[in-house]
Amino acid sequence: MTSPYRTIDCGSLRSQDAGSQHKLCGWVQSRRDHGGVIFIDLRDRAGITQVVFRPEEAPQASQLAHSLRTEDVISVFGTVSKRLPGTENPKLPTGEIELVANQLEILNRAEPLPFPLDERISNEDLRLTYRYLDLRRKEMLQNLHLRHRICKIIRDFLDRHGFLEIETPILSKSTPEGARDFLVPSRLNPGTFYALPQAPQQYKQLLMVAGCERYFQIARCFRDEDLRADRQPEFTQLDIEVSFIQRDDLLSLIENLIREILAHTHQHQISTPFPRISFHEAINRFGSDKPDTRFNLLLHDLSDIFTSSDFKVFRNALDSGGVVKAINAKGFASITTGQIQALTELAVAHGAKGLAYIKVENGEWKSPITKFLSSTEKESLRSRLNICDGDLVLFGAGQWQTVCNVLGRIRLRIAELQNLIPSDKKLHFLWVVDFPLLEWSEEEAKWNAVHHPFTRPKTEDLPLLDSEKFSQSRAEAYDLVLNGVEIGGGSLRIHEAQLQEKMFNILGISPEQQQQLFGHLLRAFRFGAPPHGGIALGLDRLIMLLAGAETIRDVIAFPKNNRGQELMTGAPAPAEPRQLRELAIASTVPPTLRK
Ligand code: ASP
Repeated sequence: MTSPYRTIDCGSLRSQDAGSQHKLCGWVQSRRDHGGVIFIDLRDRAGITQVVFRPEEAPQASQLAHSLRTEDVISVFGTVSKRLPGTENPKLPTGEIELVANQLEILNRAEPLPFPLDERISNEDLRLTYRYLDLRRKEMLQNLHLRHRICKIIRDFLDRHGFLEIETPILSKSTPEGARDFLVPSRLNPGTFYALPQAPQQYKQLLMVAGCERYFQIARCFRDEDLRADRQPEFTQLDIEVSFIQRDDLLSLIENLIREILAHTHQHQISTPFPRISFHEAINRFGSDKPDTRFNLLLHDLSDIFTSSDFKVFRNALDSGGVVKAINAKGFASITTGQIQALTELAVAHGAKGLAYIKVENGEWKSPITKFLSSTEKESLRSRLNICDGDLVLFGAGQWQTVCNVLGRIRLRIAELQNLIPSDKKLHFLWVVDFPLLEWSEEEAKWNAVHHPFTRPKTEDLPLLDSEKFSQSRAEAYDLVLNGVEIGGGSLRIHEAQLQEKMFNILGISPEQQQQLFGHLLRAFRFGAPPHGGIALGLDRLIMLLAGAETIRDVIAFPKNNRGQELMTGAPAPAEPRQLRELAIASTVPPTLRK
């Protein structure tokens, strides 16, 4: 392909090219004037090449080069020359040469930039408003490269394993993934709305009924939720569904896919199979269903030690069916009063009444609670938690779930304070399995599905569904966790109409609602639905972690800010009254308040 602008890109010239003539094009990264000789760092997608304008050799081009400003777009023609010894730049692959220019064409000028491109800018809204400039920065471009590479590896891997990439509708019907839907009014069917898919869950199951057997899609999903660092209203999932598969085969397919992604991108060696722990163990030992296993600091159960304690707080918790647990932050007796105070506030914010602790300093147990503890209790504590001088022990007492959750959050906070997360960038993957099928919602006063209503109960727990103990059923569900972040989840599915109806009944969905919302699925299950299961991986999160980025916004070309706005184009924006009329809808927000 010949181009009038360039004969080669800005990342390719090396010392062996010295003497040859080339034309380069790109953006002026920087301009330096050394006593009339102008040096330009010329940048394109491939890299940077230094260009020199010498007035005595190319008077016209040099004259013009004086006027160049950062981010002007130019094309230069010249001779590749080795840099003088001592002036090479080892940081650049092209650092041994420079292009001595004799012609310069300015293709377009750039106005002064709203922010410098060579610094990390904290004003993210400004970056997002000028996203096309922000994306010119090297790290951002690298993130887009990585994203492309990972998607390609995924497609090639799944293609080799017999998967079909199939697109499912964006204008679709509400799916109960647990978040709020984005709605799109239908002009042709006034008064009705499409929902943007929270996930292609039902479509992919229907593709299994259709006999596709192995489906995947790099699928855009939409959830109208409050935003956080790793959430966006629209995000991308690698969505997979397979027929006639057992759980462990699905998990190992994903492990192999991840191994392939890492081998091609980071050369990380990871061992498979990934560790698997049950939901119960994850909560019990780590205080989280997405445990960060890069450090220890485990939760220990101490309930047996305090069954007849004089310390009322512990005793009452146990008498009302709760637990007493603790973590030992080794060597952290040096914690400040302010830090203890902040930890206590964290505990209270998550439902604890307070945060009992013991600091061990110079052989002395310093704590407001030691006076309530008997010497036997102290001795048992010492040996159970391996308490040594310099340690800090933090307690939780109350209902199991609350205590674990509180100590789990304290655990993460202490890991930060004590710098316990190794900086070796090792990737700790693990599967959390055997989730409960149902969870009680205080707010709605009903049982909800922990994953979604299509998740299959464990076969051995199926009889429980017809008993009073139905809420104790576990699900054939699994989550993939990387360094304490959930990066995916899935399950084997219900494929029998009757079982699906039973599940809907448990979830309080009336037979009429079942027909209205899920009639298509129930009907499909009556026409020979195969056993199937699947998973979805959060692609943005995975790429964020592999890129070492801080937010998923850094791996998405045009993300929304934390108010759900796309600042560059100004979406969302008010609609014209005519558009609303055509859609048969009216806004209740007075025009003066519309942003
Ligand atoms: N549809 C689910 C989700 O988006 C994943 C799955 O069960 O495959 O979380």
